[in-house]
Amino acid sequence: EKWVYSFGDGEAEGRASDRDLLGGKGANLAEMASLGLPVPPGLTITTSACNWYYSQNRTMPAGMEEQVMEGLARIERITGRRFGDREHPLLLSVRSGARASMPGMMDTVLNLGLNDDSVQALGHDAGDARFAWDSYRRFIQMYADVVMGLDHEVFEEILEDEKGKLGYEYDTDLSAAEWQEVIALYKEIIEDELGEPFPQDPHVQLWGAVKAVFASWMNARAVTYRHLHGIPSAWGTAVNIQAMVFGNLGNSSATGVAFTRNPSTGAKELYGEFLVNAQGEDVVAGIRTPQSITEAARIASGSDKPSLEKVMPEAFSEFCGICNRLEAHYRDMQDLEFTIERGKLWMLQTRSGKRTAKAALKIAVDMAAEGLITEREAVTRIDPSSLDQLLHPTIDPRVTREVIGSGLPASPGAATGEIVFTAEEAVEAEAEGRKVILVRIETSPEDIHGMHAAEGILTTRGGMTSHAAVVARGMGIPCVTGAGTMRVDMRNEHLIGLGGLTLKKGDIITIDGSSGQVLKGIVPMLQPELSGDFGKIMQWADSSRRMTVRTNADTPQDARAARSFGAEGIGLCRTEHMFFEGDRIQVMREMILAESEDGRRAALDQLLPMQRSDFAALFEIMHGLPVTIRLLDPPLHEFLPKTDEEIAEVADAMGMEPKKLRERVDALHEFNPMLGHRGCRLAISYPEIAEMQARAIFEAAVIAARETGAAVVPEIMVPLVGLRSELDYVKGRIEEVARAVMGEAEMQIDYLVGTMIELPRAALRAHVIAEAAEFFSFGTNDLTQTTFGISRDDASVFLTTYQRKGVIEHDPFIQLDFDGVGELMKIAAERGRQTRPDIKLGICGEHGGDPTSIHFFESIGLDYVSCSPFRVPIARLAAAHAAI
Ligand code: ADP
Ligand code: MG
Ligand code: MG
Repeated sequence: EKWVYSFGDGEAEGRASDRDLLGGKGANLAEMASLGLPVPPGLTITTSACNWYYSQNRTMPAGMEEQVMEGLARIERITGRRFGDREHPLLLSVRSGARASMPGMMDTVLNLGLNDDSVQALGHDAGDARFAWDSYRRFIQMYADVVMGLDHEVFEEILEDEKGKLGYEYDTDLSAAEWQEVIALYKEIIEDELGEPFPQDPHVQLWGAVKAVFASWMNARAVTYRHLHGIPSAWGTAVNIQAMVFGNLGNSSATGVAFTRNPSTGAKELYGEFLVNAQGEDVVAGIRTPQSITEAARIASGSDKPSLEKVMPEAFSEFCGICNRLEAHYRDMQDLEFTIERGKLWMLQTRSGKRTAKAALKIAVDMAAEGLITEREAVTRIDPSSLDQLLHPTIDPRVTREVIGSGLPASPGAATGEIVFTAEEAVEAEAEGRKVILVRIETSPEDIHGMHAAEGILTTRGGMTSHAAVVARGMGIPCVTGAGTMRVDMRNEHLIGLGGLTLKKGDIITIDGSSGQVLKGIVPMLQPELSGDFGKIMQWADSSRRMTVRTNADTPQDARAARSFGAEGIGLCRTEHMFFEGDRIQVMREMILAESEDGRRAALDQLLPMQRSDFAALFEIMHGLPVTIRLLDPPLHEFLPKTDEEIAEVADAMGMEPKKLRERVDALHEFNPMLGHRGCRLAISYPEIAEMQARAIFEAAVIAARETGAAVVPEIMVPLVGLRSELDYVKGRIEEVARAVMGEAEMQIDYLVGTMIELPRAALRAHVIAEAAEFFSFGTNDLTQTTFGISRDDASVFLTTYQRKGVIEHDPFIQLDFDGVGELMKIAAERGRQTRPDIKLGICGEHGGDPTSIHFFESIGLDYVSCSPFRVPIARLAAAHAAI
């Protein structure tokens, strides 16, 4: 079996499409080498080898070692250096690289192959001893950390001490001799802490590093990251072994990262940062403040440090050419890593760049305009869930800003919250329902759970490509990084802003991730604008999708918001929500607690005009679009007065004794109300309730039709039907009312009567129910509840445990359970259509706004999905993806 793929010198055994086998990094290194770009030669050990390693008790597959040695010989031929050589030593980088990019989660070792002998040779070869010792100290530190498991902080302490003694500010200030002293201390601490010396044999080093990369696939950080991003652990990681090139070889050398377009705004401009005389992660680690790549960006940032364009014009222009070439080749914005060794440019990585939702829209629309991609492709480039980011509020431009600090606009949107200084505090606060801004000097992968819990993130160090920036953009959380004008005093839990203003933990701040400003207190915000690129992508998506998208709306306010988000009707109006408004609950209680039909009718007469005006408003806003109204669904017990005070009040209004009323309340008590007296069961016990609602609906339809001139076709939905006879009974009442209202109004009203499918029995008997039902709407919340036999109000406790223990992958209330609940839906859809081929099928549960579930709904041919107003754009886009 082939475990190893070589690349370099204008050719490669793998290519970009081999991502599954070679990992993203390896596949793209191969692709770049084939394109003839300057890539240091190397080889990739496949993800299959990693999977073998784990399946065979952490052993390497037979033959792999020989193949690595052959690949290494090829690298030696191309570079003219030899691994472990005492004159012209070849140094290697050993880099992890999974199928999906997992930034910063796994480990890389640079400068591998150095030891006490070759460090001398390296310095001699390069004519720069400082460089050689600098490389050696980096190697020892990384190797000890990644392979030997000694925390990097011990090394940083030693180095800080030395710099302090010598009065230096930067690592680059140390001379060769001074580095040598540091290295002696490094080696000493390794022996002290681990009881073994730092390995001198390059081959031992190499295999140690390869195993460590395999092992890093299972480290806690990587496991958490995979869990958060739904990456299967079975994918494994590849290992890239590559010749080193050196950005730390003096002032004509540099290392940097760049995006071919601005990842924050999407603007078509090269965007990136670099450091002279530096290596590896120096740029993102915030050791020195990085410099801009282009002169335009330098000017815009007001920095006085020269740009790459200025200091290394030739390498810069070659780099620009490569950026254009890669973008055209991959037809997407690229995120690049490069190193310049004594003026010579080397490409170390390319991948599709992470970007904000706003940037994603702009880039997709621009690339379609540039002819790089089609409009359909542009639609598929946008992750539906990411649209959430655009629905974030921004700071009202009319308010005067009380700026207390500023940094980089790392992730857009504004957020307000209490200051907390640790991830743990952020998580605690979230659990208590408090909104917080996580304030850190810089973040690391250990902070991820806290970043998730926070409304926004503020760091005082780090650039646009720092950990905080990358992660926040990915999560769609507003973020300001590198707020150098502010200072975090962790010991006293203080954030010190402009002019020495001291804020304590718990004080409220607002961050503006779009401008980089930090403001004091709560600031008025504006709701997002949904035109421009957003509008264009939505328009393209709409022309690609088959399913329509409706909204779940109970109030005129929801209905209006949903219309502005492009909803094409109401898929679910929950009439009961209307009964909780204002003093209506009082009348509702009187109705429920009445002891006779007459008493109920008296209360219902009061409710009728209220419902009628509610429905008329919805019909008018929807202007001829379909509106589905569900008859009263929840158990009556939800409306009952609970406290003595409430009971006294109702009793008074009804002229009843509180004691008697209390008895009536107790009589209505149910042990398991969600499986109790609710849904169509109420309409059968108390038909006058359904009749009142039907009357309100039809009278509202008459009013709206007269006012707007648009035909109103109400769709009346009967909940919780299990038996066809239940539907027949309720439908009979509705039809009677319809006839009466049409006679009174002397007007014909078209309407549909349908049912929710939310009980397994209804799904199985769909062919019979469809004889009476003109439409089905899948109530997937209840259907999930009744199929699993779990209560959605109580399940979260053990569902979290289930997920943690791997018993269940997704919460079935969030992502539809395709195998079980989905199967029932499929059966119901098929059987319903058997009876009534043109039956309208929709879904109105939470799943209607979940992109993955929407794919499933497309696959079983539903006509529409209905979701909450703010998810309408997401559903429109997801429905387009599902259809493309
Ligand atoms: P990550 O997956 O965390 O980005 P990488 O494997 O890309 O890790 O390595 C991190 C950094 O190490 C790179 O951005 C680059 O600066 C440096 N690096 C990796 N390989 C080499 C190499 N062959 N020569 C010089 N620098 C390298
Ligand atoms: Mg990288
Ligand atoms: Mg229901």
